Amino acid sequence: MSVMTPPNVKNSGDYIEDVLATVKAKNPAESEFHQAVQEVLDSLRLVLQKHPEYRSARILERITEPERVLMFRVPWFDDRGEVQVNRGFRIEMNSAIGPYKGGLRFHPSVNLGILKFLAFEQVFKNSLTTLPMGGGKGGSDFDPKGKSDNEVMRFCQSFMTELQRHIGPDTDVPAGDIGVGGREIGFLFGQYKRLRNEFTGVLTGKGLNWGGSLIRPEATGYGCVYFANEMLKTRKETFDGKLCLVSGSGNVSQYTVEKLLDFGAKPITWSDSDGVIFDPDGIDREKLAWVMELKNVRRGRIREYTDKYKKAVFMPTDVKLDHNPIWNIKADCAFPSATQNEIKAKDAANLLKNGCKLVAEGANMPCTLEATKMFLDAKTLYGPAKAANAGGVATSGLEMAQNSARLSWTREEVDDRLHKIMIAIHKTCFETAEKYGTPGNLVNGANIGGFMKVANAMLDQGLV
Ligand code: NDP
Repeated sequence: MSVMTPPNVKNSGDYIEDVLATVKAKNPAESEFHQAVQEVLDSLRLVLQKHPEYRSARILERITEPERVLMFRVPWFDDRGEVQVNRGFRIEMNSAIGPYKGGLRFHPSVNLGILKFLAFEQVFKNSLTTLPMGGGKGGSDFDPKGKSDNEVMRFCQSFMTELQRHIGPDTDVPAGDIGVGGREIGFLFGQYKRLRNEFTGVLTGKGLNWGGSLIRPEATGYGCVYFANEMLKTRKETFDGKLCLVSGSGNVSQYTVEKLLDFGAKPITWSDSDGVIFDPDGIDREKLAWVMELKNVRRGRIREYTDKYKKAVFMPTDVKLDHNPIWNIKADCAFPSATQNEIKAKDAANLLKNGCKLVAEGANMPCTLEATKMFLDAKTLYGPAKAANAGGVATSGLEMAQNSARLSWTREEVDDRLHKIMIAIHKTCFETAEKYGTPGNLVNGANIGGFMKVANAMLDQGLV
């Protein structure tokens, strides 16, 4: 018996099912967290047979329990002078291989379960990047849509007034996510610096002239396409002329479209929460620049695209529909890049029916468990989020390295490192899937590849 073996480890029954049942009982009403844990634990069955030491050290019970959960009040004044109150969160999930690292999401749907799923995913994703980063995630139910710049600033200042006491360049380094882009990171950084009297790399995604890294804004989208390109290579295919569906129209979507154009593909869709744009002529660089201005400067809605580009069609969001129309458009590849669970079983069936051969997840957990299983069963090239969208956090890791060294690398140097990291992540996932007897199953490859390094570090560091 090892020093870590507790006296009453169960030997019978299905250990994985027991752990999952406990996670569900301890975290009721957190369905997204249950979903993320279930997907990872399902893959780990293959590992536990070979590594009983993880079970005796109760790594699964420990890795599914956040090291720390912070939840706090965020009061602020709106432009009419009225008091508004939001809820702030930071989940510090796992620091076995480095400081907590992961984005902040500002969206009205944000709650504890969503952030716990994102923080849990982040642990494995960060491990896959090969960089020394633990996993965390945070945010607020604050909705930046329709708010003035001053309101966003007052909110960010209030949020950081509490968060600053929990984070730091060697402790926890947040970044952006849905609703948190360059503007919000600027306000958050300004308030951190003012309160702590320190100019440090405490946030990533900073402005280029005050510590940000070149390519960080582009990294998640570019990285996702680099990863997808590696998947295509395994079947001796290229992006040339391939029709691509891209959902969302924010940071990840915009740079996915840009890199798809570099690779000779033909992206044909956008979306936001109001509906879907289908542009049969394809999105070119001029249209992309127009959307970037619409979304990043004017902060408008994607439906305006049809006012400018008359051949495009807008399909408004219809909650009564049993499917999302974006996934019912005939195409070769799909890049879900908006939000979680945007591809359900019916959408997966539509994609497969229309001959879609590749799904690369720019968003976090955009496919339900059922949809994922359908893609894997159909032998679709399927790039799970924690691998395919890891380019964002990998480049955040590069931003941290540049901040520590007080220097900045060129655009080409960062892009080259990002590209190599994405190739390496694909290789890890591909080879791990084979090693554990499920060739081509990159879900298993990513979950196992990400898990092993963290689990081994936890074993090395004792019962903490
Ligand atoms: P943005 O806020 O820049 O864009 C989000 C886009 O998705 C918007 O078009 C938004 O539309 C749409 N969207 C968000 N929520 C919903 C919803 N509930 N229903 C329909 N559409 C929705 O965020 P990002 O591009 O940064 O993030 C997109 C995804 O990528 C998220 O899952 C995020 O976790 C993931 N990701 C992001 C990384 C990054 O570096 N930014 C890194 C890794 C993953 P609307 O404006 O109407 O809300």
